[in-house]
Amino acid sequence: MLKTDAASVMGAAGCEPDHRQERIELAAAFRWTARLNMHEAVANHFSLALSDDGSRFLINPNGRHFSRIRASDLLLLDAGDPATMDRPDAPDPTAWAIHGAMHRNVPQARCVLHVHAKHATVLASLRDSSVPPIDQNTMRFYERIAIDDGFDGMGLGDEGERLSRCIGNHNLLVLGNHGVLVVGATVAQAFDTLYYFERACETLITAYMTGKELRIASDEVARKTAQQWAEYPDLAENHFRELLAILDEEEPDYRS
Ligand SMILES: [Zn+2]
Ligand SMILES: [Zn+2]
Repeated sequence: MLKTDAASVMGAAGCEPDHRQERIELAAAFRWTARLNMHEAVANHFSLALSDDGSRFLINPNGRHFSRIRASDLLLLDAGDPATMDRPDAPDPTAWAIHGAMHRNVPQARCVLHVHAKHATVLASLRDSSVPPIDQNTMRFYERIAIDDGFDGMGLGDEGERLSRCIGNHNLLVLGNHGVLVVGATVAQAFDTLYYFERACETLITAYMTGKELRIASDEVARKTAQQWAEYPDLAENHFRELLAILDEEEPDYRS
């Protein structure tokens, strides 16, 4: 059944190579996100561009729990194909609207991760969704996030177009009243950003809950620390390689 779905997707797009490595990496990101409980029910989506222009991309099938996604389950879509939502295996409509627009319009969006992770969503629910630099993790995002303040219902209309403008040249967009969206050059880089942003938000929200005054670093220190994060060698790659090694041992079916 799963193999048939994958085969029909390949057939529809012509004689495609199977993009096995990209499928494995994206499947691993779903599995680990489920372990971290950053997903929500069977909503939320991860996608990965395959073509140079980003128009062809992999994304999760509609209604599948992150913890069960396999490499062969991922849909291969064309952001320029108006018949996509007529397919028998059509993706979730908001996935199509938001991720299609991201892959069409945002050059740095090779991998797009969108979740309603608990602490990032609490941040998105505050009037002020900015992230003051109070620890190393929050400083990673200093001057490096965009905030969407235009929530207008579920992403079914031109929500995706608005969000793809709003993110600008940043890699992280706080979706006000909604959640978070991260983009990156690779699955490893996008996942690392998502992981550390949720950690940063967890610390910030917990600090807010104490009611005590925050210890906010100077602009100079925050900016320097953000740059050190950006230049730190192989951070995302080392992180993601270890996650794959654990999955290979404990739930290797994600590769199938
Ligand atoms: Zn969402
Ligand atoms: Zn999405």
